[in-house]
Amino acid sequence: MPYQSKSNGRGDGGTKNRPVRAVSGPVTAGRSGSSSGSGLATPIQYLKGIGPKRAQQFVRIGVRTVGDLFFLVPRRYLDRSQMLPISRLRVGDEATIVGRIVAVATRRTRSNKDLVQCLVRDDSDVIEVLWFNRPDLKERFKPRQEIVISGRVSAFRHRQFVNPSFELLEGKEGFSFANAIVPVYPLTEGLSTWVIRRAVKNALTRFSSYLEETLSDEILAHYRFPDIRSAVTAVHFPRSLVMAEKARERLIYDELFFFQLLLALRRQEGDDVRKPGPLIDNGRLTQPFLRRLGFSLTRAQERVIEEIKRDMAQTRCMNRLLQGDVGSGKTVVALYAMLIACENGWQSALMAPTEILAEQHFRNWQERLAELGVRAALLTGSTRREERNEILDGLERGDVEMVFGTHALIEEGVRFFRLGLVVVDEQHRFGVMQRAALLNKGVNPDFLVMTATPIPRTMTLTIYGDLDVSVIDQKPPGRMPVITRLFFERDHARVYEGIRRRLEQGEQVFVVCPLIAESEKLEVASAVETFQKTRAAFADFNVGLVHGRVRPEERRQIMEEFRQGKLHILVATPVIEVGVDVPNATVMVIEHPERFGLAQLHQLRGRIGRGERRSWCILMVGDEEIAESSERLRYFVATNDGFKLAEKDLELRGPGEIFGTRQHGLPDLRIADIFRDREILLRARRDAFRLVEIDQELRSAGNVRIRKTLLSRYAGRAELLRVG
Ligand code: ADP
Ligand code: MG
Repeated sequence: MPYQSKSNGRGDGGTKNRPVRAVSGPVTAGRSGSSSGSGLATPIQYLKGIGPKRAQQFVRIGVRTVGDLFFLVPRRYLDRSQMLPISRLRVGDEATIVGRIVAVATRRTRSNKDLVQCLVRDDSDVIEVLWFNRPDLKERFKPRQEIVISGRVSAFRHRQFVNPSFELLEGKEGFSFANAIVPVYPLTEGLSTWVIRRAVKNALTRFSSYLEETLSDEILAHYRFPDIRSAVTAVHFPRSLVMAEKARERLIYDELFFFQLLLALRRQEGDDVRKPGPLIDNGRLTQPFLRRLGFSLTRAQERVIEEIKRDMAQTRCMNRLLQGDVGSGKTVVALYAMLIACENGWQSALMAPTEILAEQHFRNWQERLAELGVRAALLTGSTRREERNEILDGLERGDVEMVFGTHALIEEGVRFFRLGLVVVDEQHRFGVMQRAALLNKGVNPDFLVMTATPIPRTMTLTIYGDLDVSVIDQKPPGRMPVITRLFFERDHARVYEGIRRRLEQGEQVFVVCPLIAESEKLEVASAVETFQKTRAAFADFNVGLVHGRVRPEERRQIMEEFRQGKLHILVATPVIEVGVDVPNATVMVIEHPERFGLAQLHQLRGRIGRGERRSWCILMVGDEEIAESSERLRYFVATNDGFKLAEKDLELRGPGEIFGTRQHGLPDLRIADIFRDREILLRARRDAFRLVEIDQELRSAGNVRIRKTLLSRYAGRAELLRVG
């Protein structure tokens, strides 16, 4: 049941006789192979000591079956022999201690924050541990509980830990661990390490014989991996740290290997998909286009265009991911590709995630395209009925050669005469199905996806492992790096003064209001408030406001006025995040930057620094304590490189959060962490791709097990893989 792929088994918008083009995207990696309800698929309620209530707690950490339990790999291990006695802690040390809670108290600080104070004792001494803003801990901490604390030792009158990470070691049962090596599991309320271990122990006794080897002897020997049963036993009950790590490595490798194998096979299959004919750049449109640009391409743009040209000139479909930091000039590259399609008599479509962005693409290029004799159109949700009908006719007859638009492009009624190229901008904002829906409006069109959220290489290799990647790693010349600074409430006057100076120089300013994910209403209210404040402070300038409740038409008009310089300051909710291009804007004020992710902050900052003047990104942090404790903000201030920021983001938040949902193309990796385990990822990838090269259908005797595992893990995809 859980092993169906997203792009399989669902409708694909009326293209029944054609298989859905495999667009890089999520593959739900199942754990145990069988869904028959026996063996590893046995629900954990059948284990001794696990009733319905416990089972519910397990579900919260993703464990439903015995198989899930086996592969609930500890996040890390605590080695008691390596911990410091409290008496030996020195201020400034990064240290881990284990002790018992002696007392817990809570109070409010002068700045009205919750403070949980805890005294922890071991055989040698006592230390104070503080948590700010964690009212939930009051309930969780009880005297006499055993706790592990990890963090930096600081001092304020005496030694203490402030906001350290921690693990509660024992549950209500009152057991303690005799072992020196203690596994640390992802815990949830009511579920202690002890309960988990006892469940695993029961499961191992009854079900370990169902664990079947997954990897080939060759791989096991090559890496000296333990066999699967030993590995599962050792991750939960390690006799040494070395054994635990080796066993865990094997399971991580296992997960990544099969995932990469799937990509390798899909990639191989992609090689077999042919388009109706090659698209060759004859220069008829592309040459005059370049001449009219008014600037010359950067070397990076030229290189990427060559890569695209080469792809398009083949009969194999192009499947290319174009990465480039904000402002690196991806649009020109996309247009170049679209013009190649046009030269060859094919239509092309560019899909953007927001109306603002789609319109901007269209408006910026419409005139030049018209001069080249290219018939282009814009199709969004707010295109009026008559115009829409006209465009739909044009697309179906082939009169409209290029179309820019939003999700409106994938609607049922949109039909193309000869769609030869699909470009998706800011691709991570679309689901896999949406991308596939657009692709399926043509017969194997070329496909170019673009992203300004730089995706770390490790991520690219996992999610987009079957795409070719082009990177624009250079910005157009003459851009000054943006200066980023943190400011606080008390600096308001100074910030306003600075803004005024920029305005007096004829420059423009963005003010981005706090992101309030939970409530659009609150978000709008706070935007209105910021707007009024700003207007009062800059009465002699024109201030505009856009937010989610402003109607598209009005929003368009406001954006246009800002672009033309009629508005000097634009106050906005984070809707302006993507793609707005106003080179004269030199200041970006972000209110409550702590509510944004690194990638989002970087996107916002990318709105400025597009002209030749110096630009400032001003982070208005509400609270000094937040700024101090936020590694994220400090890193953002210090780093302008989108790729480095993306790597950091991945490290700090984990891939799941960055990309939101699996809809956005995230594989369901349960054990591996592609940031932490990137070395293993690279090995697994190399091995998987090599294997497919040598033994395409995994038919050789040595690979029987691999083939079997693959088929059961990705059961729903058997035909797609063509190894069934
Ligand atoms: P992004 O990669 O963020 O989509 P855009 O394609 O919007 O970037 O380009 C940002 C701005 O830089 C646009 O105004 C574009 O016209 C301009 N631009 C693109 N390439 C060059 C270049 N080689 N030289 C100068 N300006 C360029
Ligand atoms: Mg762009």
